[in-house]
Amino acid sequence: MQNNFDLKLIETKDMNDNTVHFKFDILNEQKLTLIAGQFIRLLFQQDGEEVFRSYSVANILNSCEDDIKTIELAVSWVKGGLATVGLSSMKIGEVIQASAPYGRFCLTDKMWKRYFLVATGTGVTPYRAMQNELMKRIKQGAEVYIAMGARDQSGLLYEDEFRENAKTEGYHYISCLSRECLQCPSDLDLNGHVQTYLKTVEFDLDNDVVYLCGNPEMVDGAFNLLKEKGLPVPQIRREKYVSPPKRKKKEAFTIKI
Ligand SMILES: Cc1cc2nc3c(=O)[nH]c(=O)nc-3n(C[C@H](O)[C@H](O)[C@H](O)COP(=O)(O)OP(=O)(O)OC[C@H]3O[C@@H](n4cnc5c(N)ncnc54)[C@H](O)[C@@H]3O)c2cc1C
Repeated sequence: MQNNFDLKLIETKDMNDNTVHFKFDILNEQKLTLIAGQFIRLLFQQDGEEVFRSYSVANILNSCEDDIKTIELAVSWVKGGLATVGLSSMKIGEVIQASAPYGRFCLTDKMWKRYFLVATGTGVTPYRAMQNELMKRIKQGAEVYIAMGARDQSGLLYEDEFRENAKTEGYHYISCLSRECLQCPSDLDLNGHVQTYLKTVEFDLDNDVVYLCGNPEMVDGAFNLLKEKGLPVPQIRREKYVSPPKRKKKEAFTIKI
């Protein structure tokens, strides 16, 4: 069941030239019960109609499901985009309408042996939200592989946090840079796209699950590659970051004589 609520902007932080981390208070002492990986909708006005844009919640949740009173988002700008214009002009203290929770891009109760969590850009935020649950599963014997695709190092969102997590045995962070080389790469970092990494993995078809999130071309490309590798489709979870199609304007009513 979704709730409508107002969000007050309390903090912004540039993550790179094109991406901003937002923090909002949920107003009226409301709290949101959320499962890691879910998203919210922000409401905007377009041509006198209410339209929405979706954003994955980036908060690091205490466990798989949590009650939160603030909401963190990572938003990448799209030139001239409706939400881009609206959010980039928002000032601290201003309020925006939202509704949540949405989505099923979440960890299920089933314990897999290996979790491959693949992202481009802000598509990595669901895996930030899942951090504590993933650590819990690692303690229970699972292995986690975060594969993060970006053009250059500035696109490796929350890199420090993920690299800190990767100090835990069983948690691996693989950066895949398509236009730049890392200055101090680890054994796992590579040049190329996330698909370049996925090609190198020998999947255990009974015990591995793969999550794909972000750019639609990456999600489709990686999905086809994984299917070709024999991974059963239910073990490939997908979230594509697209805007809803623009609604057609109602045509004027004409009377034929
Ligand atoms: C489930 C879900 C979760 C999402 N989570 C996030 C998130 O956490 N962070 C985030 O930044 N975005 C996220 N998105 C994408 C987000 O909802 C918007 O689509 C995005 O912010 C662009 O909105 P806009 O109104 O600024 O641009 P729009 O007005 O929607 O688009 C303007 C123009 O740019 C094109 N366009 C739209 N997106 C892109 C793009 N990425 N690259 C190139 N051209 C584009 C459109 O086709 C259109 O022509 C998510 C989408 C979904 C479905």
